[in-house]
Amino acid sequence: MNLPFAESYKIKVVESIKRSTQEQRLGWIKDAKYNLFNLRSEQVFIDLLTDSGTGAMSQNQWAEIMMGDESYAGASSYYKLKDAIKEILGFDHFLPTHQGRAAENVLFSVLVKEGNLIPGNSQFDTTKGHIEFRKASSCDCTIDEAFETTNLNPFKGDVDLNKLEKVMKENPAEKIPFIIMTVTCNSSGGQPVSMANLRAVYSLAQKYNKMVIFDSARFAENAYFIKLREEGYKDKSIKEIVKEMYQYADAMTMSSKKDAIVNIGGFIAMKDENLFKQASVFNIIYEGFITYGGMAGRDMAALAQGLHEGTEFDYLETRIKQVAYLGQKLVDYGIPIQHPFGGHAIFVDAKKFLPKVPKEEFAAQTLGIELYKEAGVRGVEIGTLLADRDPVTRKNRYPDLELLRLAIPRRTYTNNHMDVVAAGLINVFDRRNSITSGYRILSEAPIMRHFTVELEKI
Ligand SMILES: *Cc1c(COP(=O)(O)O)cnc(C)c1O
Repeated sequence: MNLPFAESYKIKVVESIKRSTQEQRLGWIKDAKYNLFNLRSEQVFIDLLTDSGTGAMSQNQWAEIMMGDESYAGASSYYKLKDAIKEILGFDHFLPTHQGRAAENVLFSVLVKEGNLIPGNSQFDTTKGHIEFRKASSCDCTIDEAFETTNLNPFKGDVDLNKLEKVMKENPAEKIPFIIMTVTCNSSGGQPVSMANLRAVYSLAQKYNKMVIFDSARFAENAYFIKLREEGYKDKSIKEIVKEMYQYADAMTMSSKKDAIVNIGGFIAMKDENLFKQASVFNIIYEGFITYGGMAGRDMAALAQGLHEGTEFDYLETRIKQVAYLGQKLVDYGIPIQHPFGGHAIFVDAKKFLPKVPKEEFAAQTLGIELYKEAGVRGVEIGTLLADRDPVTRKNRYPDLELLRLAIPRRTYTNNHMDVVAAGLINVFDRRNSITSGYRILSEAPIMRHFTVELEKI
């Protein structure tokens, strides 16, 4: 008999979670104005809202917490992080920030001007938010296959080079400050970008004299997929692949709450010293002095350790196989999900799951609410609420995909929990024909409305 796969760690510390009754959940979600972000964590049994900052740190990371150096300037923890960034990602210069969007804020304060256009693959919501807040806009050049949920293209995070070159040709050079590549591509379903595409985008960028910036939250999962799926990388280590990926970037922003497996933190790294100096000014204003940038010394130390652990094959294999375990259960029951399975999450295709709910009534949000009511499982809408309104016309933007994301925290839940998630979704699937209407908006914020939106049942 072949030995089955098992996790590459054992558990040392646990946290209790509580089941609830369906009746309790009906009341809680109503009080939360049908916004899953408004629920208290005790009202959730299995929390798949996000994999951001929700992972479990290792014993070595906790040891680093104890050894954190809290000196205002020049802390040894800062240098530990600087060394890890140089060793793993290859950048000489870096600035710590309190999380990924803060990195965007600092870097874009230098680089993004009113009227700019920033192409790349599908940009993450905070990235888009920081661009649009500066009266600039983003341009999604992702390959068309990314928007067909059943297409099995192994690298759905790739940019369509023709689309990208068209944007470069049709716009004045000064309008485009840089290109952003998001690895893995969160908004199109945690889908990886191939090394070949990263290489080609970089060479196109050089032709037009543009910088390439990697939005790097899930860079290690991206490297894992390159190893498994791209010709020529099977025998390379994750760390070797990561090193090569970053040869094709001039700078990066990082949310350390994902693949670096810490609860808070981020950074910017860059090759150009001049850019570092310009960004340092904004870092000091917005985040903190350049050797802590909004992070405690202990958090920088744990982050340095997390970068090492997050780029180990055994850890990544455990993680991504758990995501696939959940995905396969849903596929086996015929539930429509995004293929291939993403790195950090399973994305349920809500348009196909609930075809009777019109797009104006937020099908993915409706599905998220149903799953919560059914099983106490919290996912998140990646659809019309998230897509927000067009900043100019103020009309709702209807994205091609209406998805419910089930994001799996790192090293946190077991496959028994995944079984509960699957059973909950299966129960909703069995009664999908009785779900014919969704929700309407009672109130919403002018930007990034999904976090605070209040809804009512139609
Ligand atoms: C999470 C994330 C961000 C923002 O980072 P925060 O730490 O949440 O501020 C930016 N880009 C991508 C791709 C992300 O996944």
